[in-house]
Amino acid sequence: MYFNVFVMPVLLFVAQLEEPPPKVLAAIHRVLVKASPGAAKWCTETDLNSMQVEYGARFSFRSLAATAVAAKIRVGCWEARAGGGLRASEADKSLQATLLRSEYVCRCIRWSSWFGSSFPGNLCRADEQLRAAGTSSRRLVEKLGKCQPHPWPQDVTDRARKNTQSSAYNLLNKRPQGWAEERIRTKFNCWRLAGFPRILAREALSRLRLIGQRTPPRVHAAVWSTLFGRWLTARRTGKWGACRFSCGAGSCDVTHYVACPRIRKFAADNLDLRVSGAEARQVFTLTEHPADHNGDADILVKVALAVFVAYRTFNSLRHASHLSEYETRRALSQALVEATRGEATLMQLVSKARAKRWGGAAPPAEPDAEHPPACRRRRLR
Ligand SMILES: [Zn+2]
Repeated sequence: MYFNVFVMPVLLFVAQLEEPPPKVLAAIHRVLVKASPGAAKWCTETDLNSMQVEYGARFSFRSLAATAVAAKIRVGCWEARAGGGLRASEADKSLQATLLRSEYVCRCIRWSSWFGSSFPGNLCRADEQLRAAGTSSRRLVEKLGKCQPHPWPQDVTDRARKNTQSSAYNLLNKRPQGWAEERIRTKFNCWRLAGFPRILAREALSRLRLIGQRTPPRVHAAVWSTLFGRWLTARRTGKWGACRFSCGAGSCDVTHYVACPRIRKFAADNLDLRVSGAEARQVFTLTEHPADHNGDADILVKVALAVFVAYRTFNSLRHASHLSEYETRRALSQALVEATRGEATLMQLVSKARAKRWGGAAPPAEPDAEHPPACRRRRLR
């Protein structure tokens, strides 16, 4: 969000007529890597540019290259329109002809990069890129004006002018059909899921998009991160480590965490989400519904909340020493509060799930809940 609001507008003021230099594109790439920390190569810059359209997130990091081209399309279409437009194509042809006729050959060669990046030339190249994406700037503007006869009324002109850049950006940033499905399919290789890879990827993608509509961005991001292997587990770094939730039954690996007994017990107690160890991997990768919850309309949201709780707590405990069951439970509860904060629908869902699970009564107090171990009391407050 901050990237789109504060970084991009500053760069785009120049990019309306200039091409972004490779050094700037490399700097943007470094910023995106810092903005999305995680295991090595867990996602690409293209993933981050297409989060909203392809994976159902609430926003995407804008692509500087595509936005710069779209801004030039807007300038070429609408700038000085009352006087007949900028006539960039004619100006570029005239410049090329002048260069060919010039007697100063050495000067033309020495300054070729400067002449080659002229403003009319940049505008023409932007138009060519839009053609490669499937339309021309003239057709795009006519489509925005709903092909009405000219001259257009002021409101139609204003609407077309306002939407030119965003429509051009969407066209330039569009991925081929099935691109997101293929990405998820590649990521599923390490999960060893049972079923046809193409069908599993399609199921997971459609559920991921639904989660984006029904949960806050932080929850959707946690689910997406899990599918894409963002968890910085010991196994991901080539080492061995015990489960950070101290269940004593598995290693520090994302395929264990989604089936960790402590996570499943927490989900059953607080979300009324009963998932067996055998099906946990399929359920938490969104490729299957839990067998015990047929017909539950909120099941997908509960699964998303459970994944968020696990992911958030894992990140908090990544550098922690061994925790007791009481401490792990407190950390998981805190993550659930964070997941539902400010979301009345999700808070109601959790309350209802707890009421259903415990028959309207408060969850029974755990043996050490009222009197936590003294040595831990201050740290957990
Ligand atoms: Zn575990």
